[in-house]
Amino acid sequence: MGTSIRLGKIFGIPLGINYSWLIIFGLVIFLMSSRFAEFYPQWPLAQRWATAIVTALLFFVSVLLHELSHSLVAVNRGIPVRGITLFIFGGVSQLAHEAQRPLPEFLVAVVGPLTSLLLALVCGGLWYFTGDFNSYWSAVLFTLFAVNLSLGIFNMLPGFPLDGGRVLRAIIWGLTGSYWRATQVAVRAGQGLGLLLLAGGIAWAVFGSFQGIWISLVGGFLLFVATSGYRQEALRESLKSYRVRDAMAADWTALPGEMPVASGEVLLALARGGYLGVLVEGPPNGVVDGRKLATLPRETWQFATLAQLMTPLSSLPTLDAEGAVFDAVEWMDAEGLESAPVVRGGVPVGLVSRAELQRLVRSRRPRSWI
Ligand SMILES: [Zn+2]
Repeated sequence: MGTSIRLGKIFGIPLGINYSWLIIFGLVIFLMSSRFAEFYPQWPLAQRWATAIVTALLFFVSVLLHELSHSLVAVNRGIPVRGITLFIFGGVSQLAHEAQRPLPEFLVAVVGPLTSLLLALVCGGLWYFTGDFNSYWSAVLFTLFAVNLSLGIFNMLPGFPLDGGRVLRAIIWGLTGSYWRATQVAVRAGQGLGLLLLAGGIAWAVFGSFQGIWISLVGGFLLFVATSGYRQEALRESLKSYRVRDAMAADWTALPGEMPVASGEVLLALARGGYLGVLVEGPPNGVVDGRKLATLPRETWQFATLAQLMTPLSSLPTLDAEGAVFDAVEWMDAEGLESAPVVRGGVPVGLVSRAELQRLVRSRRPRSWI
């Protein structure tokens, strides 16, 4: 998510703020201040701005609590969370992967809007019971009540990628057993919602207030995320039957560990496939590739053995031969790996390169999306 300012960790979850968020933070302060000027004309200028800044900061905390609730439930359900980032359209919890079952998907999604509604209830209750409706705190509390209520309701709109869209997907997924079917419905609803907000926002901007521009931007963003989410899932679906073994390098050559790296067999294997399995005992337990060899001074090649040069398999992350190609690419992208040994039942059976996996992915990419 672009460039972010790191803010440290909460419950072990890294928290970041994207630079685009600063725009919305400034805008919120400005809007609050002008609103307070309208409702409380008796307030001195400094107090009005101070109240606006405090409200904007607590607004930021509200969005953060919403995201934190998603992340904490995800972690509780066994889905690792890479971090929370706040950006111009709100916040995003970066989960390591999608939920594998409908119930966790439902719980992770629904807890966010529920948290916002709970915050609305607390702020609204405090506002009501403090009674003094002209004080600074009363203005802050009422604004937070309205903001959290809107956050809760807006996010429950049933279109992907909004929380409501994920809830819808989880329900259809649970009822039909088909993740793909459920995704299609939720994404279509999200695209429809995005278009509606985009068109409605433009109409509002033309015939009403400039605030319509903001609505249309949010609509455009939803449309974009829904559509790219759909592409991703369509690709996953089209690759469903492909396993890592389908993209595995067939020219896995295994040579004994005591062989000198300068021997013809080694150089030939590296020139052909780029990878080489090294047998020290039994099945290969290490790998050598051309890049590793290049790090070794040429004059030492005749003395060094493959066993000395190899990277032990035990120190490398491995892929399962029967694993899904789509997940493997996602994993290699995330880990920044160019190649990985493939194992079956713990025994190395070959190597797979990210380039080869991506070639397979490209060949299967659906031609039309919508
Ligand atoms: Zn949410």
